[in-house]
Amino acid sequence: MNESIKKVVKFGGSSLASAEQFRKSAAIVLAEESRRFVVPSAPGKRFPEDEKVTDMLLDCHRLASEGRDFSARLAAVRERYELIRTGLGLAVSLDEAFAVIEENLHKGCSRDYAASRGEYLNGILLAFYLGYAFVDAAEVVFFDEDGIFDGEKTNRIMAERLSQLESAVIPGFYGSLPDGSVKTFSRGGSDVTGAIVARAVMADLYENWTDVSGFLMADPRIVRNPQPIKLITYRELRELSYMGATVLHEDSIFPVKLAGIPINIRNTNRPSDPGTMIVPAADSYGESVITGIAGKKGFAVVHIEKDMMNQELGFGMRVLQVLNDMGMCFEHLPSGIDTMGVVLDEKVIAGKEREILAAIARATEPDHIEIEKGLSLIAVVGRGMIKTPGTASRVFAAVARAGINVRMIDQGSSELNIILAVEEKDFERAIDTIYREFIHA
Ligand code: ASP
Repeated sequence: MNESIKKVVKFGGSSLASAEQFRKSAAIVLAEESRRFVVPSAPGKRFPEDEKVTDMLLDCHRLASEGRDFSARLAAVRERYELIRTGLGLAVSLDEAFAVIEENLHKGCSRDYAASRGEYLNGILLAFYLGYAFVDAAEVVFFDEDGIFDGEKTNRIMAERLSQLESAVIPGFYGSLPDGSVKTFSRGGSDVTGAIVARAVMADLYENWTDVSGFLMADPRIVRNPQPIKLITYRELRELSYMGATVLHEDSIFPVKLAGIPINIRNTNRPSDPGTMIVPAADSYGESVITGIAGKKGFAVVHIEKDMMNQELGFGMRVLQVLNDMGMCFEHLPSGIDTMGVVLDEKVIAGKEREILAAIARATEPDHIEIEKGLSLIAVVGRGMIKTPGTASRVFAAVARAGINVRMIDQGSSELNIILAVEEKDFERAIDTIYREFIHA
């Protein structure tokens, strides 16, 4: 078997939304011999008001389960594939596949099965177009009885199956339950399949082709023309995605991280852009000590004050016990000598604010306790910060010069990030100010 470089290439929905996009994607695959395993999404939107095929299929399922006529909706799905098939002049028929899907919809198939057909059909077309083998994901991706992804079983069986093939197309987004029925990942889950395949074939690289040239240092709706991130570590990415920066499905990091395989985010419409490289670890950093800035609105902080708090055994534990008993997760725990802050998601505590304060007060007998809402958190992330003195002071000086009041600071012990809380009204301006402090373009 071929022992040379192996790449797993995943294409997102917009990269396979039309015959024209299929052509671009196939050209990318065939440009390098190493691109041997391909994971497609279902056809996505061709233009902003367009529909994703997955959504159309879910609609068919909804109509079918309400006992209503879904034929027009299914015909619209079929039309999407027909346009691709005829546009590429492919002599492969999807008639039988559609007949089976229609029959299963009539028979009351599961929602997951219906949703998964978008990837399944796209996989058949793409495999035929590329001349690659087609491997149904239901035969190589497994979930357990509880619907939890079974990474080890999947890895074993998929590795074995794919080792026998020179090249293959494996549809993204779904797998099967022990009874053989189809189960999907959450939306956007083809990214996860790509990562699983990369691990199974021990790929040298997992290329994730989408419609942006990688991650940007900040949200372009907030910062004008932010620079792309060339290189980021898994951990930095995790910090930024926690704060809402999304390009990749969250669960897609784990399998490749486990195997130490880098991910390269690329743009199908601009294949010569290098995109963003996501790597297990990096010693050096780029021109800027900051890798990226991201943030989220909608946080509340409970401020607790008590003299000699630091000497009181179990103080923090009692606070957290209250949250635990109320079934709430906390986001951050910035603390001082006699103060402790508990940052919570406003959605999680909505309507329960007084109850939380009363319960914490009972448990800890503080000198003062209050809750402040309407905060936003901003994470300034950079692996270079640990080696560069003065980064924090630059962040805070810049924000202060802009007249923005910082309500709370939390520097992760890893020194990978600095998190600051500002009032929601200052959110956008704070991000832009911090970005401009580090990037002069
Ligand atoms: N087609 C699925 C979705 O729209 C999965 C994916 O594209 O990754 O969510």
